[in-house]
Amino acid sequence: MTIRTPAQLREAGLIPPERTSALEAVAARYAVALPPALAELIDRGNPRDPIARQFIPDSAELKVQPDELSDPIGDETHSPVEGIVHRYPDRVLLKLTNVCAVYCRFCFRRETVGPGKPGALSRPALAQALDYIRSHQQIWEVILTGGDPLVVSARRLREVTKALGNIAHVKVVRIHTRMPVAEPERITKDAVRAMKASGKATYVAVHVNHPRELTAQARLAIARMADAGLVLLGQSVLLAGVNDTPEMLEQLMRALVECRIKPYYLHHGDLAPGTAHLRTDIDTGQTLMRSLRGRSSGLCQPAYVLDIPGGHGKSPIGPQYITRAGENGSAHYVVEDYNGCRHRYAPAR
Ligand code: SF4
Repeated sequence: MTIRTPAQLREAGLIPPERTSALEAVAARYAVALPPALAELIDRGNPRDPIARQFIPDSAELKVQPDELSDPIGDETHSPVEGIVHRYPDRVLLKLTNVCAVYCRFCFRRETVGPGKPGALSRPALAQALDYIRSHQQIWEVILTGGDPLVVSARRLREVTKALGNIAHVKVVRIHTRMPVAEPERITKDAVRAMKASGKATYVAVHVNHPRELTAQARLAIARMADAGLVLLGQSVLLAGVNDTPEMLEQLMRALVECRIKPYYLHHGDLAPGTAHLRTDIDTGQTLMRSLRGRSSGLCQPAYVLDIPGGHGKSPIGPQYITRAGENGSAHYVVEDYNGCRHRYAPAR
């Protein structure tokens, strides 16, 4: 059974009794859900366990920093109708639900996900959102998100992917989910069939932050999706105390590739309220990305990205490997290899 309260966390031996009342205050503010597949992974003897750190509430969540924002990536600014975020010309987010199987303590939408929060899409609102997509010819890609879009029933999801399959100008459907690691048993054959939008390229971006999340069960669920022809991408969040070492980041990226998931994004932590204790700084992220390039195959390299606060979209913030040097007639490029050695390359015009 999914754990949803600090009292249940205490009963499961996941927090000491003396922390319960402090965490009640956190749970009253931000949703808690910890499904069995992830609860079982937590090492109860390790106070710094990286799985616990992601999902067990912490009193630090009530300390909001001055630069943190309730809508850190500016969804609201770009929402023309309920359920749609239209930030870039050729693609939209379609937020099907505000519920997740697990609530991550660093969630960028923590003010809008969870029971009692606004944002669940009613049937009329979904119809209106689909009308918006139909009437905007420039929409080439639709990204199903939430919450977690795989929380909805396979029947409802099939209705949505079928509707998208019937929109000629939509060529790509992308589903963002944490379900394969949170509740792998929900990735049934029926659910996988429902994910596929007929006649469209369907991508599934699986959110994984630590290699231990890829349990045997999760790997089976992922294999079910890959075998069905879904193209799998990885998205991970760089998190202090979870994956912010060269060794752990390398293990994570290798594990994803071994599961047929191509690492796509490594997100720098968003300025969500009460998440400073889980964020690294950008210098650390760049150093880790350099190290990753030195240590592992090109398949293991995600784009390190920052969602610019205020809704200005994502920008790559990874390390640079090429610079200009010299002046006028002697101007040229200097390019750095994976060992950090610099080489002269061709004159710059
Ligand atoms: S699964 Fe995604 S939307 Fe849900 S809590 Fe985690 S980060 Fe937020």
